[in-house]
Formats: sequence, structure tokens, C-alpha cells
Amino acid sequence: MEKIKMTTPLVEMDGDEMTRIIWQKIKDKIILPYVDLKTEYYDLGLLNRNATKDQVTVDSANAALKYGVAVKCATITPNRQRMEEYPELTEMWKSPNGTIRSIMGGTVFRTPILIDSIKPIVKGWKKPITIARHAYGDIYRAVDFATEQPGEAKLIFEGRDGERKEVSVMKVEGPAVWLAQHNKEDSIRNFARSCFQYAIDMKQDLWFSTKDTISKTYDGYFKSIFEEEFENYRDKFKELGITYFYTLIDDAVARVIRSEGGYIWACKNYDGDVMSDMVSTAFGSLAMMTSVLVTPDGKYEYEAAHGTVTRHYYRYLKGEETSTNPIATLFAWSGAFKKRGELDGIRELERFGEIIEEAALNVLNRGIMTGDLVNMTEPGTEVRKVSTDELLDAIKEEMEILF
Ligand code: NAP
Ligand code: MG
Repeated sequence: MEKIKMTTPLVEMDGDEMTRIIWQKIKDKIILPYVDLKTEYYDLGLLNRNATKDQVTVDSANAALKYGVAVKCATITPNRQRMEEYPELTEMWKSPNGTIRSIMGGTVFRTPILIDSIKPIVKGWKKPITIARHAYGDIYRAVDFATEQPGEAKLIFEGRDGERKEVSVMKVEGPAVWLAQHNKEDSIRNFARSCFQYAIDMKQDLWFSTKDTISKTYDGYFKSIFEEEFENYRDKFKELGITYFYTLIDDAVARVIRSEGGYIWACKNYDGDVMSDMVSTAFGSLAMMTSVLVTPDGKYEYEAAHGTVTRHYYRYLKGEETSTNPIATLFAWSGAFKKRGELDGIRELERFGEIIEEAALNVLNRGIMTGDLVNMTEPGTEVRKVSTDELLDAIKEEMEILF
């Protein structure tokens, strides 16, 4: 078979440890035999971030904005322990994901990959639930303090051009604790746009929840911006037969549990933090969770939701064969190919991404899986635990059948 040609490069962001090893295996076994791969390569491995004073991370994010589709390997975010492990580090470099997100803007969507033999803890869930978390403000950028004496707290805003607002928060007769939080119009609007854009991409309903019955101005502000923005997407939603559905957060939680899944749930920052852990745990495994950063104007960065799987890497370095799950990283690549193919009108490239996913699911559904999944399968499932290499080989064989 002739190799599939690409016109625009993918922005390739390489990473660290076990996922870096898996990255190369995926390229060698699954991609390079079939695709005339065009990438603009950025090495976000910790040592190269250090050597470039983290410029490589900034450059890679700008490239993602330029070309529109990036695929990222998991990377180490250095902490004190890592500073000892890598004495050559000149600084405790910031999280690459944080840097990329602050340059690209946009929203992270996390979606579980489902297989037949691993049932979600919530019995009714048949289809994935994607969580979109607003990643700015609220309690994450709040100021707070405690006080001892009786007194009054006030909230004051002083506009640069004279606008002034002052309200009494509360008068208290004893010790108390206080918190002020904020959010920004453009951040909420961009969040809304990314969510509508991604719902259209996925052809799935979008849910959004807040507590605007109690927080009438603050959460009401979120609700109104979503309503306003929806007007720009209403026709497209209608054409695709998908809906935008707003409800209160407590009602949303009850509905989510009773639902079959198959939609995108947009959450405010704190709700998204909590609900994404709840949803991902109930669906199974972090190793089966994909993640994509989507900007309001439709730029994409695909990755696995898990980290660099350090413990497996140290076993690998000792020469042991590991059974690390490559599926989420593989789906980051397939997602990027599907999107690049769609944007460039290269149907073969889109199809290639689909074939990777079909093949991977077929293999997993036959019970061939890595160690992390084996213990999660339904009782009575016939499984064969394989190494990372064996799994990728089985997926490649399956792809040959599907082509
Ligand atoms: P992790 O790499 O996700 O691994 C945590 C544990 O989850 C592993 O030890 C392993 O359990 C299991 N696991 C995760 N992915 C797996 C896979 N693909 N296959 C099989 N098992 C898997 O998280 P971490 O240990 O907290 O962090 C390690 C490094 O990753 C840190 O330096 C952190 O900064 C970085 N990190 C990066 C990203 C990112 O780039 N997006 C995200 C999170 C963390 P067992 O060991 O029990 O098998
Ligand atoms: Mg959390």
C-alpha cells in the first residue's frame, strides 16, 4: 500500500519517561509504515526544556496555534524530588501543560475510551461522558482570610475611569472567615465558544450547569454568556440535530448518573475539578482517558490524560518488559490524524485515524490487554495480559485487516 501523504505538518511535542518510549514505539509500529509522516518536532523532554530554558515549550505552543493541530506526549513537571533526580536542572520549570494552555487559551475536554469487558461503575452508562472544565478563576484565584474581632467586611471595586462599587458583605459579632473570588468575561466567553465548537466537532449534545438560583449575579453571568454565545451556533446545532441544555448543577449531577452518557458536560472550574475525577474513576482507568485542548477558534492539542508512568519506566530501564497501556497515547495520535485529515480534506488520513481506533478497540474487546486493564474486566472475561509491544503488534495486525 502506498503511504498516505500529508500536506500540513502535525506539531509533535515529545515528552518523558515511559510515555516517551511508547511514543517512539507507536511511531515505528503503527504510523511510519503507513503515513508519509510530516511533523514539526519539538522535544519537550525535561532535559531539552532545561537546555532551551523552556523556550521549546513556548515555541511548540506557538506552532500549535500556527498549524492548528498538535499531539503531545506526557511530560515531567519538575518538583523538588525531580530536582534531586536531575541535578543538571537549572530551574524548577513550570508545567508544560500549564504553559501551553496559557499560550493557546482554550478548554480541556477529557473523554474515556470504553471497551465491552470493562463496565462503568454506573451501570446505566453506555457511552462516554466528556467533561469540559473551565480552567480560570473562581476559588482557584480567590483571596481569603480569617478575622478575630466583631466588625464588617466590604467588597469594593474601583474602576480605572471612575466606576465604583461597594457592598457590605456581612457584619459579624465574632471570629469569621472570608473569601472573594472573580472571573473574567473574556475567559467565560472563550470557554463557551470552545464548548460549542467541540460539541459541533463531536456531534454531541452540550450540557452546562451552574447554581444561578443561588448565585444570581455570578453564576447568572456565566449562564447569560453561554446563552448569548449559543446564538452564534444555534443553526449549526439544529443542522446536526444536537442540543444545548442548561440546568442547575445539582439537577445535572442527578441526570448524569441516570443518563446513558454520550454528551459533553461543561463545568465551572471547581465543579469540573470534582466531577472529572468522579466521572473518570467511575469509567475505569486513567490509562484509558484522552484529553484534548480546544481553542475558541478551533485549534487542537491532543494528549493522554495520564502522566509519564515513572514506575514502569524504571522497570524498563532495568531491562524488564513492561505492560504499560499505550491506548490513550495512541488515541492522541489518532485524534490528531482525524482532525488534520478533516481540516486538510485528506480523507485517507482521517480514515487512518479511524482505523487505528477501530483496530485498538477490536483487539481490546478480544481480551488482549495490558496489565492495568486485566484486573478491571467483568468476571468470566477471557483475557490475555500482554506487553506494550505485543499489544501494539496485535493492533498493527488488526489494522492490516481493516485497510
Ligand atoms: P502517572 O504517570 O499517570 O502514573 C500514575 C500511576 O497510574 C502509574 O504508576 C500506574 O500505576 C498508573 N498508570 C498511569 N498511566 C498508565 C498507563 N498508561 N499504563 C499503565 N498504568 C498507568 O502519574 P504520576 O505518577 O503522578 O506522575 C508521573 C509524572 O508524570 C510526574 O512527573 C508528573 O509531573 C507527570 N504528569 C504529566 C502529565 C502530562 O503531561 N499531561 C499529567 C500527569 C502527570 P502502577 O504503577 O500501579 O502500575
Ligand atoms: Mg481534581
